Amino acid sequence: MTNDPKIPDVQMHLATPAEPVTGTIVLSELCTKGKSSSFVRHVSIDLSGTPLEGNFWAGQSFGIIPPGEDEKGRPHKVRLYSVASPRWGEDGQGKVISTTPKRLIDEYSPADEEEDDRHELFLGVCSNYLCDLKPGDKVKVTGPSGKRFLLPTDHEAHDYLFLATGTGIAPFRGMCMELFEGKNGPCKSQVHLVMGAPYSTDLLYDDLFERLEKDHPNFHYHRVISRETGPVNAKGRYVHHYLDNQIQQHRDFLANPRTLMYICGLAGMQVGIFQMLGANQLGENYFTVHEELEGIDPKDWTDQQIKRRVRPTRRCMLEVY
Ligand SMILES: Cc1cc2nc3c(=O)[nH]c(=O)nc-3n(C[C@H](O)[C@H](O)[C@H](O)COP(=O)(O)OP(=O)(O)OC[C@H]3O[C@@H](n4cnc5c(N)ncnc54)[C@H](O)[C@@H]3O)c2cc1C
Repeated sequence: MTNDPKIPDVQMHLATPAEPVTGTIVLSELCTKGKSSSFVRHVSIDLSGTPLEGNFWAGQSFGIIPPGEDEKGRPHKVRLYSVASPRWGEDGQGKVISTTPKRLIDEYSPADEEEDDRHELFLGVCSNYLCDLKPGDKVKVTGPSGKRFLLPTDHEAHDYLFLATGTGIAPFRGMCMELFEGKNGPCKSQVHLVMGAPYSTDLLYDDLFERLEKDHPNFHYHRVISRETGPVNAKGRYVHHYLDNQIQQHRDFLANPRTLMYICGLAGMQVGIFQMLGANQLGENYFTVHEELEGIDPKDWTDQQIKRRVRPTRRCMLEVY
């Protein structure tokens, strides 16, 4: 039995990069847990009166067009950000959506060997633009984008494993609110959310998930901290290590045909997860493997092999960037 999910038909591309709508910032606040070396904000945008109003689903994303031009003199391109709000938006009516931008701040690291000594400050264009905006500021928005990384139409028909790293938590904020705070009452399915972050101060929306866990015995919140030692990190370093360590406890859940897996976050995070599932004979629910990989121990699958030769099934939703 495969028990594939029925995914809702959603609207896409109502506002294109050539014809974006103008939204208004209504809120911008830090959403890390404490004093963190990264800056991640919760930003809400009012889309009232535009074709985008009421048309976003948790799991979709929208585009932001930063003003100005790139170094070649072309207008900046659109960047995508995940919707962090539930279907009913931040305002209860789907007019205000939110997202979770992380400032891209680094030292310049040249791809070109000839620029070897370049190391000045590198600031991502759109993430810093979006994080700098204040309530009342206008912003150009496109979308919606994405039609697969969505909750199924019948919430009760499935159980859920949500795996997030960093801002990959954004869609799960909206999805968990839909599952537990919708007008039809809380969903009775089993929901596990695993959040990976380097330090506990980098946890995002931690208070919300802590509250949901307290209020709903079927919601399980797992924090996986990679660079700290101590009790919080006793069970594993990265998300896939954590799952591997917990596999006996959760084997029935992972093998159950009701379970859907959603993976969102850093590009490549699926590699360790697929290797771990394959090595534990739990992969077939979530991905198909090209014959080229037959006979190779899943732990030896390379990044490239996984990206090209391992395909998620309809029970595995993958959004990495
Ligand atoms: C579906 C989807 C959903 C997303 N959701 C979110 C979200 O919810 N939150 C979020 O924060 N982001 C999200 N992103 C990522 C987002 O779209 C942007 O890519 C991110 O904000 C960086 O954009 P930027 O304009 O700030 O950086 P840019 O100015 O575009 O810079 C990034 C580029 O510069 C290069 N670069 C990076 N670091 C350096 C360096 N040190 N030296 C030299 N070059 C470098 C990179 O190769 C990259 O191509 C999502 C992406 C996708 C595809």
